[in-house]
Amino acid sequence: MRKSFAIIGLGRFGGSVCQELIKSDQEVLAIDNCEDRVNEYMNIATHAVVANAQDEATLRSLGLRNFAHVIVAIGEDIQASILVTLMAKEMGVPKITAKAQNEYHARVLDKVGADIVVHPERDMGIRLGHKLTSNNMLDFIELSENYSLAEVMVTNKKFYNKTIEEINFRKHFNLTIVAIRRGKSELIVSPPANQLILENDVLLVVGQNDDVDYLDEKLNK
Ligand code: ATP
Repeated sequence: MRKSFAIIGLGRFGGSVCQELIKSDQEVLAIDNCEDRVNEYMNIATHAVVANAQDEATLRSLGLRNFAHVIVAIGEDIQASILVTLMAKEMGVPKITAKAQNEYHARVLDKVGADIVVHPERDMGIRLGHKLTSNNMLDFIELSENYSLAEVMVTNKKFYNKTIEEINFRKHFNLTIVAIRRGKSELIVSPPANQLILENDVLLVVGQNDDVDYLDEKLNK
């Protein structure tokens, strides 16, 4: 379904969001107060305009309230990011995603009405930290403070050619296997209990962080 998005701030983050939305055939209004940035997106976004988003009259004239989702991707100018989020909320924008620079910024964005607050640098740091300290973990996404989704590769002989049931996976690791990636293209979604695990299979598991770390350790022995 085609939806309308407005992205305020065309830095690396806002710019990447814009490109992905356009790839998914969505309608995107791209706004930045820097003319060079806007010129870069002129032929990418559906519309691109040079405007200072801190000016309420400008936001109104751009019809911001008519967009289904507004993404506030202003980074360094924390005051501008908060003010723009607040104004978008007051105008009645149905969904607002805002990018936070730090925890305090995130709390304020949440208070002034952002529906989703993202911390790309922090989240990437956490994901990379997990990858760097583990041998088998290919990716790690925090779902909440204690729960995560992780991709771990099976490189322990003890697990090869056994079924999920034989390994007694759920009981032993307290984790759920949501899918198994095998080779380049095969994906087994919601594998049944009699599913065989093979060498170099990648398990996509959901569960508590400590349990994910325990599995990672066991898979490497
Ligand atoms: P990124 O990490 O996404 O590259 P950043 O965190 O370094 O970005 P900035 O470069 O400070 O963030 O801001 C992102 C964009 O937001 C910039 O292109 C900047 O010109 C734009 N911007 C900042 N303030 C405003 C404003 N008041 N109105 C419109 N655009 C703005």
